Amino acid sequence: MGRRTAPRTAAKHGILVLVTVPSVHTVAYLLAPGRIELRRLPTAQPAEGQVLLRVDRALAGGTDRKAFARGHPMIPMPGPFGHRYAGTVAALGPGAPAFEVGQPVMGVHSAPCLACDLCRKGRQHMCPDVMKEKVLGAFAQQLCVPAAVARHNLFPRPDWLSPEHAALLEPLACVVHGLELIDWAGVERVLVLGLGAMGLFFAQLLPHYTTAERAGAGRRSAGLELARCFDLRPVWDIGERSLAEQLPTSERFDCVIECTGRIEGWQQAFERAAPGGQVLLFGGVPRDAVFAPDTYRLHYEEIRVLGSFHFAPRDVAKAREFLLSGDLELDPMINGCLPLSQLPEALRRLEAGEGIQYAIDPWM
Ligand SMILES: [Zn+2]
Repeated sequence: MGRRTAPRTAAKHGILVLVTVPSVHTVAYLLAPGRIELRRLPTAQPAEGQVLLRVDRALAGGTDRKAFARGHPMIPMPGPFGHRYAGTVAALGPGAPAFEVGQPVMGVHSAPCLACDLCRKGRQHMCPDVMKEKVLGAFAQQLCVPAAVARHNLFPRPDWLSPEHAALLEPLACVVHGLELIDWAGVERVLVLGLGAMGLFFAQLLPHYTTAERAGAGRRSAGLELARCFDLRPVWDIGERSLAEQLPTSERFDCVIECTGRIEGWQQAFERAAPGGQVLLFGGVPRDAVFAPDTYRLHYEEIRVLGSFHFAPRDVAKAREFLLSGDLELDPMINGCLPLSQLPEALRRLEAGEGIQYAIDPWM
């Protein structure tokens, strides 16, 4: 296998950094639900504005699990997948942002145009172009970051921040976006429904937004334990007995954050909202799922139902601040590191409820 050295080097702390880029690299292709193939592909030359990364770590989480189990509307098959990553700059296209070869970086997978009507109105997460050039293919040894993402949503990564922790920027940005949608005035009780990775990030970030009492309900034992570590009280195990069997239906919350991604979860979240309360529908459900809230309560009790999808650059900036603050418990959010060849195993474990997120090291 031929190797060549990246065209430029960067001196850092007096040490000359060389990033060697193999002329071919390994990429995981999702062919169909349940089928992944590792392919050897030639190294891409970064085009105008693009940044070629050596992927240091990718993360396999809920979206990847769903794509592997049943397909995903945002992830075409067959094709490369994986969108949570941290890497090292290996080469820069003409006119790319001012990164240096050898520089550690972290980023998210999309970027809005910042010019359309929705972007101008501050709704950059709904920009029709936000997914036009998205990062798909983080489960690989190399990744070419599209020009718009490199320009707006790729950042230097400090040496002390590990690549697997840095790869949490994307899920954190999604959670920050949800938390920013909620009107916190008068919120005294919050329920986080669903204690997978996203519910647990909500648990960790909630104290930065509210002094309200915070409770949780989930099915998986790992999530239940962590939720208690992150100070949710009480935490109901709804794996065997429903919440209705354990808590009178009259017990309601000013804010319910739904992270189950199941239509029953949406329904349950609405039912637990107190009069004047808010329901954040964070977990996406299949497109044809029907949500039927009680129209009486919706109208006369003014329950506000908030959809939450994706993030705007301001959410990414805030998520990055949280990551760089060092205040978050990130180790428990990742259940281990596996080589690229064991990506299907990582996704099967997630599907079986073993763990909440796995790091993938493409060089192992
Ligand atoms: Zn736009």
